[in-house]
Amino acid sequence: MSGIFGVASKKNASIDLFFGIDYHSHLGTRRGGMVVYGKDGFSRAIHNIENTPFRTKFEDDMESMQGGLGIGCISDYEPQPILVQSHLGTFAVATVSKINNMDELIKETYSTRSQFQVMSSEEVNATELVAWLINSKDSIAEGIQYAQEKVDGSLTLLVLTKEGIYAARDPLGRTPLQIGKKEDAYCASFESFAYVNLGYKDYSELGPGEIVFMTPDGIEQIRKPGNRMQICAFLWVYYGYPNSMYEGVSVEEMRYRNGAMIAMRDENRDELDYAAGVPDSGTAHAIGYANEAGIHFERPFIKYTPTWPRSFMPTNQSVREMIAKMKLVPVEHLIQNKSMVLIDDSIVRGTQLRDTIKYLYNSGAKKVHVRAACPPITFACKFLNFSRSRSVMDLITRRVIHDLEGDKDVEKLDDYSNPDHPCYRHMVAEICKRQGFDSLQFERLDDMIKAIGLPECNICTYCWNGKE
Ligand code: SF4
Repeated sequence: MSGIFGVASKKNASIDLFFGIDYHSHLGTRRGGMVVYGKDGFSRAIHNIENTPFRTKFEDDMESMQGGLGIGCISDYEPQPILVQSHLGTFAVATVSKINNMDELIKETYSTRSQFQVMSSEEVNATELVAWLINSKDSIAEGIQYAQEKVDGSLTLLVLTKEGIYAARDPLGRTPLQIGKKEDAYCASFESFAYVNLGYKDYSELGPGEIVFMTPDGIEQIRKPGNRMQICAFLWVYYGYPNSMYEGVSVEEMRYRNGAMIAMRDENRDELDYAAGVPDSGTAHAIGYANEAGIHFERPFIKYTPTWPRSFMPTNQSVREMIAKMKLVPVEHLIQNKSMVLIDDSIVRGTQLRDTIKYLYNSGAKKVHVRAACPPITFACKFLNFSRSRSVMDLITRRVIHDLEGDKDVEKLDDYSNPDHPCYRHMVAEICKRQGFDSLQFERLDDMIKAIGLPECNICTYCWNGKE
C-alpha cells in the first residue's frame, strides 16, 4: 500500500508535513518521500525506509526543506513523489494507486516517443506514468481527470504546484482522502488521525472522484463527487489505523461491533476462559467479542516493539513470517490449561496463524478456537497494491477449494462464498483440520457489512464474493 499527505500553509509547512507523512508509516515499509515548495523553489527528498523509520531518515532534510506548500508519501513500491517539469510548469505528484493496465499505457506513451527514467528494477515508475498522463492535457485539473479515466485499478493522488495542491480521490473512492483545517493552513491526508496532533480539525472528506484545489486560503472544488462509491472494506477490518474514520465510520468502533457480531453467532463461547486477538489488528475485534460474550479480554501474546519499531516487511515470505514470529512473545501463564478464542483480522495464507496456534498448544493451551474477523478471502484484490496476496493460489481458501473441487473450483466459488451453503461449511471444516485448530469460524459478510454500517452498495467486497 501507500499513504499520502499534503499541507498548504501561510507559514512553513515542513514540520506538519514531516509528522503527517510519518503517521502513514503503517501503510508502507519501503520508501518515504517529500517535496516542499518555498522561496527557493522545489526541494525533494526520497529515502529507503526499510530498516530505519521515516523520521530518522528525514530529520536531516528538514532544514533545507522550507516552504508553505508540500506533499509526501510512504510507499511500498515506487520512489515518489515524482517531480516533473513540462508545458504545465513544474509540479510534483504523489499517488496511492494500482495500475493494472501499466503495459498498455506505457505502450501509448512510447508511441508518442516519450521516455521514462529507468529504475533499477527496470520497471516504469507508476507515479511517473501518472505524471505523464497528467501532462497529456492542457491543465493539471484536466490531466488528473484524464489519468483517473485511463487507469484501470485505482488512483488517489496529490499534485503540488507553485500555486497550491490538487487533491483527488479515486473515482470509486476505493481509498480515502480527507481534508483538515487549522488557522492559516489546510492539509490533505489518507488517514484522518494523521493531522489531529498537528492541530487540524476535520474539514471534509472527499467523495468518490472529487477533486479540490487547496491553498492556505481555502479549498476550491474542481470536480464534484460521483454517485458510485466502492470504498475498500479492508480499511476497517485490517489496514486502516484504529484512530481513523472513513466515511464517518470509526475503525476502532467498527472492530468492536464486528467482534461482538462474531460472538453473537459463536457456538463455543460458553466454554471460553477469555478472548484474545492476534496483535495488533485482531485486538479490537477481540475486545468487541469479549464485551459481547461477557468474558475477559487477555493477551496471551504481546508484541515486542522496542527493537521492532515499525512493521519491517522484507519481500521474502519466509523471512517475513520469521520476523512476525519473533515479534510475538507469549505470556505462558495466560496460556497453560486455558480455553481461548483467538481472533485474527483475516486468514490469507494461513501459515503464520498455524504456527502461532501450534505454539499455543505446545505452551499448554487447552483449547484454541480461531475466529477470522472477515469472511474467507477467495479473490485477490485487483484494486489496491496490497502485498499480502499476489495470486489466488496463495490464498488458503482457494487452495482448499481447488483440492476439493479440482478443475471445477472456479465454477463453484459462489457456493463456497455463501456461509449458508454446505460447500462453505465443508471448506471451513477442511481449513480448520489442516490448520490444527479446535474450531474455526469466519465472520459473515452480511455481519461485517452491518458492523461497518454503510450501505452495502457503497462498499467493495470483491475479496470475499468476487462482485465488482
Ligand atoms: S478487493 Fe478487497 S482489498 Fe481490494 S479494494 Fe476491494 S475490499 Fe479492498
